[in-house]
Amino acid sequence: MQETLLEVKNLVTSFRTSGGSLQAVRDVSFHVSKGETLCIVGESGCGKSITSLSVMRLLPQNGKIESGEIKLNDQPLQTLSNEQMRRLRGNEISMIFQEPMTALNPVLTIGYQLREPLMLHHSLSKKEASKQGVELLSQVGIPNPEKRLNQYPHELSGGMRQRVMIAMALACHPSLLIADEPTTALDVTIQAQILDLINDLKEKLDMGVLMITHDMGVVAEVADRVMVMYAGKKIEEGPVRDIFENPRHPYTAGLLNSVPNVDDPEFELEPIPGNMPGLDEEITGCRFHPRCKFAMEKCKVKVPPAFQVSKGHHASCWLEEKEVKADEGSERIPVQS
Ligand code: SF4
Repeated sequence: MQETLLEVKNLVTSFRTSGGSLQAVRDVSFHVSKGETLCIVGESGCGKSITSLSVMRLLPQNGKIESGEIKLNDQPLQTLSNEQMRRLRGNEISMIFQEPMTALNPVLTIGYQLREPLMLHHSLSKKEASKQGVELLSQVGIPNPEKRLNQYPHELSGGMRQRVMIAMALACHPSLLIADEPTTALDVTIQAQILDLINDLKEKLDMGVLMITHDMGVVAEVADRVMVMYAGKKIEEGPVRDIFENPRHPYTAGLLNSVPNVDDPEFELEPIPGNMPGLDEEITGCRFHPRCKFAMEKCKVKVPPAFQVSKGHHASCWLEEKEVKADEGSERIPVQS
């Protein structure tokens, strides 16, 4: 059995606004094991990035973890001081973002930025840190690494900058890498190279990877397990093969049906109607019911619990309630809402 690295239990994160406190993450639990990639998927605004920022304790000023537990290697992160948390970031947990320029300082050389964490966390001399910086850059496939150390971020292409950010994230051999849409801004070829790189490094370093994405193509490339979020809630979770071959929540099925499948001439695109609700929209029952073609009366008033589909595969949808299906038989008849 794989060893659990990150464990998040019943996480609730909210934002203070002029209209009151609004929940962005609603009672979400999950784990990431060593050497595995968990992808959190969902449309923009579903709470996936806020979940990862909660883990890193990097929420915007008006954000707050209301309740829940976050443990890394069994250590509760909420009990750490800001200084302890700062040391943990970049050392045990690293994060890479969609836009490398948010993480790279434009006025410092790549060499300076790579050396800094190594000198700070590992007490290396400047010379030793430079040597390791060169090794890291070659590890992420950057040609002429010695020359790159003296360059500034704007002198590199987008793909190269992304590789530099990965090199920086890996500098201190983190046990957990959080990657938030790391390839969205890149063209398809570079995207595939970066995803391969993350996969290789995960295996080589036995890292856990928490990947945040809206792109089911990326999920298919890298995920071992998938957690689907909708309007702040986890609505389905399972091994990647189960999610792709047997999605049980209508929203997950909708996400898969809204990605073109060029290999299947019969495939018909079916976008999900409507939009993700705003944080201030109170929705009773299943939060997906206004957009769901299978919605039943019960869905509008009662929140569905997580039903087990198979080992490790759960879906929060009343259609999975076996007794209801047996008693009411025709429950899958769409209800107009
Ligand atoms: Fe649709 Fe009801 Fe399932 Fe929600 S619980 S996804 S509304 S069928």
